[in-house]
Parts: sequence; C-alpha cells; structure tokens
Amino acid sequence: MAGIVVVFDFDKTIIDLDSDNWVVDELGATDLFNKLLPTMPWNSVMDRIMKELYTQGKTIDNIKEVLKRALIHPRVVPAIKTAHSLGCDIRIVSDANLFFIETILVHLGIRDCFSEINTNPGYVNEEGRLRILPYHDFHSSSHGCNLCPPTMCKGMIIERIQASFTKEGKKTLIYLGDGSGDFCPSLKLKGGDYVMPRKNFPVWDLICQNRELVRAEIHEWSDGEELEHVLIKNIESISLQESHSNSTRLLLVDCKMETIPMAAHEALPPALPVVYCPLYCNDPIEK
Ligand SMILES: [Mg+2]
Ligand SMILES: [Zn+2]
Repeated sequence: MAGIVVVFDFDKTIIDLDSDNWVVDELGATDLFNKLLPTMPWNSVMDRIMKELYTQGKTIDNIKEVLKRALIHPRVVPAIKTAHSLGCDIRIVSDANLFFIETILVHLGIRDCFSEINTNPGYVNEEGRLRILPYHDFHSSSHGCNLCPPTMCKGMIIERIQASFTKEGKKTLIYLGDGSGDFCPSLKLKGGDYVMPRKNFPVWDLICQNRELVRAEIHEWSDGEELEHVLIKNIESISLQESHSNSTRLLLVDCKMETIPMAAHEALPPALPVVYCPLYCNDPIEK
C-alpha cells in the first residue's frame, strides 16, 4: 500500500545478530574491541578495528564473506518481499553501517525492496580499507537527544520521514526494532501508527515500562516467523481501514450529490490481496 511506510532496524531485527559484533568476533578482533570500547565511542572502535584488520592483511572479501554468513531467520526475507509486493515503502534506520547492511541485503537479494537506508557511512577507501564514520558528526556538535547514542538519534530520522508526509499525503508508519536505540523513534510515532518491538529485548522492556508515552499501537514479536505474521497482519488491517475510509468518503459524496450510488462500488479500491496467515496469534499488548 502506497500509504504505508515500514521502517526496520537492522541488527537483531532483520538479521538475527549484531553485525558489528559478528564481524569483530569472526575476524578474531574481540579482545582488541573489548580493550578499545571503554576509551572511545562504539562507531570509532569499529573504524579502528577495520584499520587493524587491514594492517593484519584481512581483505574486503574476508569481511564480505563473514557478512554473508550472518544469521537470519528464514521467514524474514519472505516477510520483506511480501510487504514490498503489497506496495509498502520500506526503509532502514540502523546504527550499523552502510557497507555491512548493503553487503547483506545484496547477498539476500532484497536490496531493491528498500527505498532508503539511514545509517552510519561505511565505504572502502582508495587503499582498500573499510572506513566507518558516524551518521551524526558528534565531534562538531551533539544531536541533543539524551535517549540516543551520540552517533545517531533514530527519532530525528523518523521526524524527517514524517515531515515528508505533509507533502505526500497521509501515511501510516510501522516501526520494527529490538534495541534501546529504537525507543526514541517509537515515541515519535503517532496515534494510528504501529510499533513492533521484539519481545524480551531492550526496546520492549522500555515500551512496557512507559506505555503511557507510546501513542502507536504496540504489536510484539519474538522471532522471524512472528515478525512475518504480525507485520502482514498489520499491513492488512491498515489497508482495510484505508479502503473503508475511501469508500465512506465516496458514499458521502454520492449522498450529497443525490445520485444513486450504483457506480460507487466500481469506484471503490480494488480488493486486497489475500495473504494467508495461519499461525497468527500475537494480539496487541493491552495499553
Ligand atoms: Mg537492533
Ligand atoms: Zn533520540
């Protein structure tokens, strides 16, 4: 549906692990990572680790090979493809980096499902070394949000996406995430939007403790299978509401014009594609 924007976090939401930790561990840099982390921001540690790996002779292909083995639940790719085929505008908001995310999405064959990837820049420089930089340049100024890490306030990205809606017409947002960095964007969602926190993960705990602050409908999920069922169910129910309000509008116009609403049904939006969802059992959390 053109009126639905689905925003995914990446680590532990699309893939089932943290891509930074995965690359660091698989390429044998865990000790260095743990040593550096108390001394500098996470994002800067990742850039330093990439420099170290380059010095040790690890290539971009070595990093890509590790990324292609990243764990993903088998129902996540079909869920994304279905949402895309239903016409949703799908985007990513992630504190990982562009190189890791694009390598994995291209490998999975779903890069083209995403209209936008908001994340930390990651690119191969002229030496053949991977550079990872912050999305928000915290050295020059703070983004000012104390809920979020210095490199990225996901809430501000959601606000930018929402601001674009005023030009494009009313849209409904569905936000999926797992981490504490996904709490700030969850608070920016409006009534009628949907937030899908991963159950028993930090954002779920934060939402459970602060339900009165969340205006969006809350629909939890635990694994890729539930992600698929809950996401498609939410898309269906938004689509139904949209077609309902469209047909109500048409009928109201007909009444006002005192015409016989014979052709009204022909003007209604086409029937929704039926998506079979046999195991759906995830009722919204009660507010
Ligand atoms: Mg995450
Ligand atoms: Zn924030």
